[in-house]
Amino acid sequence: MIVGVLGGGQLARMMALAGHPLGVRLRVLDPATDACAAVAAEHIRAAWDDEAGLARLAEGAVAVTCEFENVPAASARGLAARVPVRPGPAALAVGRDRLEERRLFEALGIPVAPYARVDEAGDLAAAVAQVGLPAFLKRRELGYDGKGQRLVTRPEEAEPAWEALGRAPAILEARVAFSREVSAVAVRGLDGRILHYPLSENVHGGGILRTARSRPGDPRADEARDYAERILRALDYVGVLALELFEVDGRLLANEFAPRVHNSGHWTIEGAETSQFENHLRAVLGLPLGSTAPVGHAAMVNFIGRMPDPAAVLALPGVHLHDYGKAPRPGRKVGHATVRADDERTLEAVLARLQALAAA
Ligand code: ATP
Ligand code: MG
Ligand code: MG
Repeated sequence: MIVGVLGGGQLARMMALAGHPLGVRLRVLDPATDACAAVAAEHIRAAWDDEAGLARLAEGAVAVTCEFENVPAASARGLAARVPVRPGPAALAVGRDRLEERRLFEALGIPVAPYARVDEAGDLAAAVAQVGLPAFLKRRELGYDGKGQRLVTRPEEAEPAWEALGRAPAILEARVAFSREVSAVAVRGLDGRILHYPLSENVHGGGILRTARSRPGDPRADEARDYAERILRALDYVGVLALELFEVDGRLLANEFAPRVHNSGHWTIEGAETSQFENHLRAVLGLPLGSTAPVGHAAMVNFIGRMPDPAAVLALPGVHLHDYGKAPRPGRKVGHATVRADDERTLEAVLARLQALAAA
């Protein structure tokens, strides 16, 4: 069974590794010469809108999915005429545009922070007046890892911030004084069945995810899952979806969703019965989903910019290392490690040592 994937980064690589034991082979399309999934999958090196490349991606594939939502809408629609694209082009179109995303949240009764759209210079002052400051000016499209957004604290900073974003269509979003960030990672099968992983509690630094902890039994889980299910059903979604949320005064506000497997779900490889990667493949192939039950206590630390000494990481008990084989570069996610332990105290102790290695 062949699954085509738009994007050949670490998410596709981990999907390929998860697919191997099931007899699933991945074929990835990515314009990058150094796509890190290429060690585990067939790599078609072509532009996102290259007709011949898209045709090769689809050929003989049971389905095509994505690990990167910023592919041109026309490419996803063109593929969908040849092969099932899961999640479908409509879900990708919403997931890649912050304004469309917020409109969907609001239509589904999912609370969001105050925001206003910014299409032209004249909109900035009105947006500041409406939303208040401090606020984040965020590009509607193409942002990730905190790139594509600027914090605006004073009115005169709005124009330079928008300039720095290339005057692209944007939204201004009130800064939220959250007590913590969580994400709901859920999977919906081809038959409409939905399963949820334990909530992930996420800590960011400089706009980039640093640490994610599995939180079985989290008090906000029902609320988060309810919101995720509304989105999954509204989009007739197939596959894994991650919904990022802020906790404010004991309730949740939606930040954004990713129409794909997600960094905050990497701990599911060792910390759940079935990983998000395997379940995503099961879903897009129309196979039965696997249990999302937690295995022990788990947490994940990202390696940003460069890998730590592997021997030091592997010397820690219960730690599992993932090196994506990417060239080191400041701000780049090059790997992660997951700690799994039988109890929370042990987990936190090992996690602190792992965090120190990641920061060194
Ligand atoms: P990614 O897709 O990698 O998660 P992104 O570039 O799409 O990142 P966001 O998720 O919008 O960016 O923001 C990154 C982080 O910045 C958030 O996880 C949060 O820590 C902080 N942040 C974003 N928006 C707000 C906000 N309105 N109030 C407070 N903090 C925010
Ligand atoms: Mg994002
Ligand atoms: Mg985010």
